[in-house]
This record gives sequence, C-alpha cells and structure tokens, in this order.
Amino acid sequence: MASHAGSIPTGPPQRAFHVLSKPTGAICNLNCKYCFFLEKEKLYPGSSFRMSEEVQESYIRQVLESHPGPEVPISWQGGEPTLMGLDFFRRSIELEKKYRKPGYRILNTLQTNGVLLNEEWCEFFRENNFLIGLSLDGPREMHDAYRVDKGGQPTFDKVMRAARLMKKHKVEFNILTTIHAANGDYPVEVYRFLRDEVGTQFIQLIPIVERINEFGQIGNQEGSRVTDRSVKPAQWGRFLTGIFDEWVRRDVGTVFVQMFDAALASWVGAPPSMCIFAETCGHAVALEHNGDLYSCDHFVEPKYLLGNIQSQPLVQLVSSAPQQKFGDDKRATLPRYCRECAVRFACHGECPKNRFLLTPDGEPGLNYLCAGYKAFFQHIDRPMKLMADLLRRGRYADEIMPILAAGEVPFTVVKRGSSPGPYRQEPGT
Ligand code: SF4
Ligand code: SF4
Repeated sequence: MASHAGSIPTGPPQRAFHVLSKPTGAICNLNCKYCFFLEKEKLYPGSSFRMSEEVQESYIRQVLESHPGPEVPISWQGGEPTLMGLDFFRRSIELEKKYRKPGYRILNTLQTNGVLLNEEWCEFFRENNFLIGLSLDGPREMHDAYRVDKGGQPTFDKVMRAARLMKKHKVEFNILTTIHAANGDYPVEVYRFLRDEVGTQFIQLIPIVERINEFGQIGNQEGSRVTDRSVKPAQWGRFLTGIFDEWVRRDVGTVFVQMFDAALASWVGAPPSMCIFAETCGHAVALEHNGDLYSCDHFVEPKYLLGNIQSQPLVQLVSSAPQQKFGDDKRATLPRYCRECAVRFACHGECPKNRFLLTPDGEPGLNYLCAGYKAFFQHIDRPMKLMADLLRRGRYADEIMPILAAGEVPFTVVKRGSSPGPYRQEPGT
C-alpha cells in the first residue's frame, strides 16, 4: 500500500500528539447501521485483524519514548477493542511499566460498545485507572434504532448493564452519543436520560454524517448527498441548542458536555479541546492493527497512510511534512464564506470530512453542518460571553446559573483573541 509520508524530520514532535489505536482494526461484535469503520475491513483483505505482540510493544514503547508528556494518553478504539481479550490489556499495562519515563503519567482510555464488559473487565479498568467511553445513543428506542448486533438484535439492555457494572466498580466513564435521524429531534429527552437515568457526568456528542456517492455507495467520503440516517444541519443546531439551554440553567459545573467545554474555551480565547473546532489539526493519528499509521481516525484510507511504525519511527511519521500539510490544510482550504463568518473563532469550519457543500457563492468546501453550527454558536453567544467574563474575573462559570435564574443577564463583551485566561480558577487567585 502506498505511503504519503515524504520528507521526514528527525527529533521529537513540537507538541503533544494522540494516537488512536485499533487493535482489532475494523472488527466489531455489533453491526451498527451507521458505522463508518466497518467498511475499513476491506483495506486489509485476509488479515487476522489482531494486533500482534510486536506491534503492541512497538506502539507503547514509541509513544512513551517520544511523547513530550507529562500526561501521555494510550488510547484503544475500534472496531471493538475488548474483542482482543483482557490478557492483551494486562500485557499493555506491563509494557507501560517497562517504558514509562519518570514523572510521566499514563492515561489509558478505551472506547467500547460495552457488550463484553463483566466484573473482571471492570475490576481491571478500576485498578488501572482506565477512562472508558461507552457508546449509548439515548433511551431504548433511540439507541436500538441503529445500534444492533450481528443478528440485527437490539443492544440497549447490554449497554445499560455495562454502565451499571462500571458504576458499581467505580470505573470512570463517559458516554458517547451519536446524533442521527432517530434521536435528533429529542435533545432534552436524550440529555435527561443520560444525566438522570444513566447518571453520567461526561457527555460527548457526535453528529452522524454519512455521505453517498454517485453510485449509491456509503463510507467513501464522496458525494454531496447523505443517508436518511444522517442528522440534518438545522436539526443538529436545534439539538445542541436544546441541550445547552437546559445545561446552562442547571448543570454548569456538574455535567460536562465536551462540545460546550470546547465552545467556552473559544469564548475565553483558549485553544479548544476538540480538534474539530481548532484552526488546524493533524495531532491525532490512527494506528491500525498491523502498525499502519493514518492521518486521522476519519481518514483511514490509502491516500492518508503515513507509513508503518514497524519500519519508520512513529515520531517521524507524526511530524512528517504530509502530516503537517494534512493539519494545515484544515485552515488553508477554508472557504471565504467561513473566513468572513462571525462565529469562525469557535467553529473554524469544523471537521474537513464534513466539508462537501458549496457556499452560497459557489465555492467548494462548506461544512454540511454549517447551518446548525451557525445557529448554535449565535444562540450561545450571550451566555458564553457571560461565563467567559466570570472566568476572567476569577469567578466560576457556574455562577451564570443564579444570574440567569434572576432574569438579569449583565455581561461584558470579551475581546476575542486577547490573552486567554485560565479555564477555571479559584476565586481570588
Ligand atoms: S480531520 Fe477532523 S477529526 Fe481528523 S483531526 Fe482534523 S478536525 Fe479532527
Ligand atoms: S458556522 Fe458555517 S460559515 Fe461559520 S465557520 Fe462554521 S461552517 Fe463556516
């Protein structure tokens, strides 16, 4: 398979990077109807789709040797990583002990559908401080609309069982909810379900955007049409707005919605915590089961193959000119419509994988979700300014709640691009 890694610098990368590794490649025990990754199985015909001990050790050694630290993420994704079995992850912990540098903290994260989790898995996660991401799309009917097993059977009960088990064992976990046609009109129901019935404090929201090419094929990042399952742009905006309005009135500081945290960082003038809202990207690469490294989890395609970590050092691939160009292209390809947009500072055209529309003046590269993001960011401008101002004055963002409850919304306009204040700081410090 051709690599697009060209000239390769030596030395450590300038900034922290994140490797999402896929020890089973695209192999999963479910058959979620919208999953873009199941298609990736075709990239490796005849493969066993199991990360070898050599690749596992090489990955952990190279990340721990080359990451600038002090917090080093070791991330497992899929497919479904738990299909590797618990011994694979026990070995990872031994390898981490072997290669850990003094003073470095390792944060193990694992994204799972939860189906295989049991007491033993949860004990292991707790003992080793794993942060688990559990995929759950809301109440039963909304979750089961698309998240089904290989036999087409619903999975809601199994995922809820996994959530209960993790709570019992005090495993730290967040919920990853994808937004699509089945749950996109029910923001408050989904949010209250996650908060009150699942009892999670950490929520990630991901829009489902499945493109269809001219031959009716899905998953090739081609075409300007989307499947009926995909969330619609305005629906996405209403979904975010609906949750935000409840969150900002009662849950600031107790429930953490990743998208709102990232937005607040933008209003404060700090770097956003999500690559999709950053001006450039390219610091989160994807590692396949055989050591192939790709530019991003959303671009596991031959054109974006950087090389293999068994034959070229990971650090060089992450810092390579093609990878830098991949990240810089996010800004370089932004259409004028976005460059002149009032909420560009928070949106930056979102992820390039969703930029497949024409702007009103006919320029390519407008994000499919633009209408939703524009409406959402405009809607939250006032409360975001207020929270940013509270933080700048050394107060807490959650002080917005009594202010909103009192019906008075005084706020100071925060000058965008001015020096960032701390995201949260103790009053008086
Ligand atoms: S392509 Fe999208 S998901 Fe990938 S790093 Fe860039 S912004 Fe993030
Ligand atoms: S809201 Fe739309 S126009 Fe504005 S930066 Fe985002 S994608 Fe571009």
